[in-house]
Amino acid sequence: MTEQVSLLSDAVTPMLRQYRAIKAKYGDAILFFRLGDFYEMFYEDAELASRELEITLTSREAGKGQRMPMCGVPYHAAEIYIGRLVKNGHKVAICEQLEDPKLTKGIVKRDVIRVVTPGTVTDLSILEEKANNYIMAIILDRDRGRDREGAGLAACDVSTGEFLVTEITGDDVERRLVNEIARIQPAECLVGPGVRESENLWGFLSGFTGLPCTDYDAGHFAPGPARRVLLDHFRIASLEAFGIDDRSTLAVGAAGALMAYLGETQKSSLGHIAELKVYSTAGYMTMNASTRRNLELTENARDGSRKGSLLSVLDLTITPMGGRLLRKWIEQPSLDLGEINRRLSAVEEFVNSLVLREDLRRLLRDVRDMERLVGRVSCGLGSARDLVALDASLNVLPDIKRALGGCTSPALRSLLSRFDDLGDIHDLLEKALVSDPPATVREGGMIRDGYDPDLDRLRRVKNEGKMWIASLEARERERTGIKSLKVGYNQVFGYYIEVTRPNLHLVPGDYIRKQTMANAERFITPELKEFESQVLGAEERIIEIEYALFVDIRDRVSAQAERILGVARLVAELDVFASLAEVAERRGYVKPEVNAGDSIIIRDGRHPVVEAMLDGVFVPNDTVIIPAENQIMLITGPNMAGKSTYIRQVALIVIMAQMGSFVPASEATIGIVDQVLTRIGAGDDVSAGYSTFMVEMIETREHLVAAARRRIRAGSGSGPGHSLVLVDELGRGTSTYDGIAIAQAYVEAMARAGGCKVLFSTHFHELTRLEGEIDGVRNYHMETVVREGRPVFLYKIAPGPVARSFGINVARMAGFDAAFCRRAEQILKDLERRNPERLQLSLFGMVEAASQMESRGQRDDQGAPVGIDGSITGDGAVGDAPADEGSKGGAQCDGTGRGEAEWEIEILDYIRNLDIDNLTPVEALQKLHELQQRLRAAGQVD
Ligand code: ADP
Ligand code: MG
Repeated sequence: MTEQVSLLSDAVTPMLRQYRAIKAKYGDAILFFRLGDFYEMFYEDAELASRELEITLTSREAGKGQRMPMCGVPYHAAEIYIGRLVKNGHKVAICEQLEDPKLTKGIVKRDVIRVVTPGTVTDLSILEEKANNYIMAIILDRDRGRDREGAGLAACDVSTGEFLVTEITGDDVERRLVNEIARIQPAECLVGPGVRESENLWGFLSGFTGLPCTDYDAGHFAPGPARRVLLDHFRIASLEAFGIDDRSTLAVGAAGALMAYLGETQKSSLGHIAELKVYSTAGYMTMNASTRRNLELTENARDGSRKGSLLSVLDLTITPMGGRLLRKWIEQPSLDLGEINRRLSAVEEFVNSLVLREDLRRLLRDVRDMERLVGRVSCGLGSARDLVALDASLNVLPDIKRALGGCTSPALRSLLSRFDDLGDIHDLLEKALVSDPPATVREGGMIRDGYDPDLDRLRRVKNEGKMWIASLEARERERTGIKSLKVGYNQVFGYYIEVTRPNLHLVPGDYIRKQTMANAERFITPELKEFESQVLGAEERIIEIEYALFVDIRDRVSAQAERILGVARLVAELDVFASLAEVAERRGYVKPEVNAGDSIIIRDGRHPVVEAMLDGVFVPNDTVIIPAENQIMLITGPNMAGKSTYIRQVALIVIMAQMGSFVPASEATIGIVDQVLTRIGAGDDVSAGYSTFMVEMIETREHLVAAARRRIRAGSGSGPGHSLVLVDELGRGTSTYDGIAIAQAYVEAMARAGGCKVLFSTHFHELTRLEGEIDGVRNYHMETVVREGRPVFLYKIAPGPVARSFGINVARMAGFDAAFCRRAEQILKDLERRNPERLQLSLFGMVEAASQMESRGQRDDQGAPVGIDGSITGDGAVGDAPADEGSKGGAQCDGTGRGEAEWEIEILDYIRNLDIDNLTPVEALQKLHELQQRLRAAGQVD
């Protein structure tokens, strides 16, 4: 610790100079600067860390009478503190001493050995077990020739070694990229060229709560350097090995930049990142962020926790790897019939064979997080404990292999044929490591006896020395006759012989006085010193040798990372298959038939989550969608009748089938669905500054865009499947007639577009007349009966529109008193008496008028002055406006420049507000007269 002392005196400046030089290279990270047994932080880093970690902020001499803020954490507890900072979105640069301070004069050499960032954490105590932790790099190129855009996206989970890349080209790139980012849910994002320039994309990224975005130098994304980084890392000559085309410059750019960043921050071989998996978003069901949220696939929409999500019902996995894979399957339902059927048949075998399932699930309990353990080992971070945990998993692999021996499905047979039980690695670890090594790797105690002859010999030497010392006490008591003589040890003087004051006269001549205590003296003998150095020398060597052996073992395991990860992924699949089978068995799910057709036929379907949470019995329902007949299902029914549940259950059953799960039904035939779109709920996207209604309109518009795109694609004959569209109460966020108008226009447009199966729940009874008017539109309703004035929901879907609405019954159930409900019923009767159709027509007339106005307005720009000009409108002459073309537009406006449409609204409002119940016939005539006068004055009536 010579250095620490000197820090406080005149050597302050060189140390600070070193600190500053290192800090300058890692400006965006909190620098953990190793000083002896502590990591110290200085200046702003110290202020920030002391706040976030709730540790004391002190200060230290910084030369010339100045002081600098400082705080520190003990090195052995650093991982916890680093974890906390990283969790809060910070980066931490760990700066180590690269030389032994005891052997160095002056300043010890130091450098950063690793930067921990939110997307590169490998500490198992920070990471969520059953979720991946991705770091992502994106690049957007909006200018690739005519109308072409492209994007590259790479994602890596450093903790498991998974490395993915995709290139998105064609139309609507930004939207598809955003969907993909929403699926991946990265923990950190490297921002490449073009990303900030895109309002949509950048808006999305900045709205992503707590996502740290790092601008990464554009040079890293350039195809040349990016390719070189990838070739170097994977030690290959061409990226074609991964199926990457040289022309995929965006995929290469994103992947290369990400790899460069990982190299810079991790400063280790990252050998477990052994494969670059190229994928296409077109291989999976498309869902945008709000669809995922609305369907509550992995978290509930209320508080974002797992409770109440599809995942919470389906996840009976036992291993962390299995948990992560299941989540992935839910988030990425497949479009590949072969793959879907492979999974379904494996699940089926586990459903049919209880013994196989139970054996496997019992064995899986001993399997630890193999992926992440290997990940830590490959990053040079794994401890002997990590290796022992890995070994415990390897221990059960042969049993798992044996348990699978009797399986018959081709899916499981093929998996079994690839199942490597990693016996060699298991043997190595068994032979090399003790079963309960310490947490640190620098104090020995890790390597088993018999593994290394040198180590064994040193241990013998050390033990002999210790035994000699241990027996010394008895020997010397005998020789000197001092009964209270003691042999002890302390850090400063080493071993000593202690004699109490009254016995000092008995001390023999060969004792050398070393230390005087209050009532005793401590001595050494030359012989004792010799054994002491034998023990301590051996101990030091042992620690050195153990560390070297450990590193060698770790490297040897690390070299097999790819093999181990291969098996870990098979184990994950087995875990998921058995879990899905277990759920199927417990909840009575059946194997769906998935095909390339375009119908969806479900018998006795149930909502998997509502069913699981319901106290009572869930009422099953059929769904038969054959696009030529009922492409659009219009579902009416009162509130609480089960509409929302029903439409969601159809989507969830489709998703479950395509992820390879059995489904809650008695029978299901699912024509592959390649996209699920939703318009559900009233979520304000406040962060993006949109009102509820605006969000509703934006989402709805997306359906039309998607439908139109599908038609273009269908025309070119590519792509399987249909889109499934859920609309829950469209047009609620605005006035009734507005809402109906938009809802009807939507139904018309979706029917025209084709290619989408639409489940449309609505309380607008007016829409039910569209059946028969528009091909493919069919009415359904949720059955409800009234008993003793109260609606009783049967939760059964039936053909045809709902006969009546039950709002007032529900109000009664909610506790409104009889008088209130009677009045409401009276008003309802009144409203029903008046002809709603007429009002509606007038509304459409209004829309038409508005669009006419628009075109006139354009004409007016070019010529005749209209309305607002005082010369025409000033003295009520408007009513007598000449009937020539040029001023006809003027007749549409009153003295305030208002248009026909606004007039109509005013008049409708006037009529609406008349208190007809208290109006005499004469008064009514007067009102009519008044209306006519006003219209005349405005030139609306000749
Ligand atoms: P709506 O959308 O028509 O207002 P919901 O779908 O929200 O109705 O359903 C209201 C409640 O009714 C649900 O929360 C659930 O408790 C119950 N429910 C819905 N469908 C069923 C069903 N098929 N069987 C039993 N209970 C159901
Ligand atoms: Mg509802």
